[in-house]
Amino acid sequence: MQRRQFINLSSLGLSAFTFSSFKSSSAIRKPIVISTWDAGIEANKAAWKVLSNGGHALDAVEQGVMVTESSQNCCVGLGANPDRDGFVTLDASIMDHQFNCGSVAFLERIKHPISVARRVMEKTPHVMLVGEGAQQFAVAEGFPLESDKLSNDAKKAYENWLKKSEYKPVINIERSQKSTAFAPSKLENGEWNHDTIGMVAMDANGNLSGSCTTSGQGFKMRGRVGDSPIIGAGLFVDNEVGAATATGQGEDVIRICGSHLVVEFMRQGLHPEAACKKAVERIIKAKGIEKSKLIQVGFIAINKQGEYGGYCIQKGFNFAVCYADDQNFLVDGKYIL
Ligand code: ASP
Repeated sequence: MQRRQFINLSSLGLSAFTFSSFKSSSAIRKPIVISTWDAGIEANKAAWKVLSNGGHALDAVEQGVMVTESSQNCCVGLGANPDRDGFVTLDASIMDHQFNCGSVAFLERIKHPISVARRVMEKTPHVMLVGEGAQQFAVAEGFPLESDKLSNDAKKAYENWLKKSEYKPVINIERSQKSTAFAPSKLENGEWNHDTIGMVAMDANGNLSGSCTTSGQGFKMRGRVGDSPIIGAGLFVDNEVGAATATGQGEDVIRICGSHLVVEFMRQGLHPEAACKKAVERIIKAKGIEKSKLIQVGFIAINKQGEYGGYCIQKGFNFAVCYADDQNFLVDGKYIL
């Protein structure tokens, strides 16, 4: 470190070594895309195709999560577990580098809610459409109305659930034969077990965007909407600062405006990982340690330097990071409890 730089830091009362654990590198890492859970690896590949060809972050985050929405091996999208009345209902949101945003909630029988959210953003004066109105809009925009039949796996899971009819989300797991807390998030038969993908990206021009799409908690009450389609809760992007998205118990993310909070912590100068950690701490503080042990929430974030990070309440959350053709890897989320 140059003597003058050191003196400048000292005069601010800061030691150069204060920054050692979350050190910023001077080179900006871009493009970059990160997304939640194991399914993020496949989603990142599609996003990377866009980003590595000079495409926009907004297209990358839409095309990335569409892979997960279409996947037969995933609980995101129409193959997901239904609500307690037996209907799959989907939530999604998208946000670009200019505070444009769109979302849909309680949407049924549409394969790509993320693309409907984008149309809401681009073609309506609104930010959010829900339920029947969202579906009508989607159909008017040319999205096909899919069958309302449950996938075989979802049907089995629902029949099983009906035996007790208890709403008791299993931590880190949306649909698992094992159904144990702290089970690995990829099942042995290759099925991705999570119901949400959140993705944030920065393109070669340094612009940020984010997307989030989910079937929400399985066996939820009919009409329940989680954090994923709520701008500021499940997703937030501020092109001056960074972008964040959330997964896990949506109600607890909404309570603290989680993704917005992460971005605000980054605005204060925190590294993305430290910002995610502080948001998780806020949830634990609000809820208390004992109740927090019963839930999972994970945040991921990137900043304008292309630094990334994630944090969660408890073990088992992971996210996928991609910033080069041969760099698309999973990172285990650090956890507090
Ligand atoms: N956050 C989503 C919701 O509450 C679910 C999840 O990420 O597991 O709907």
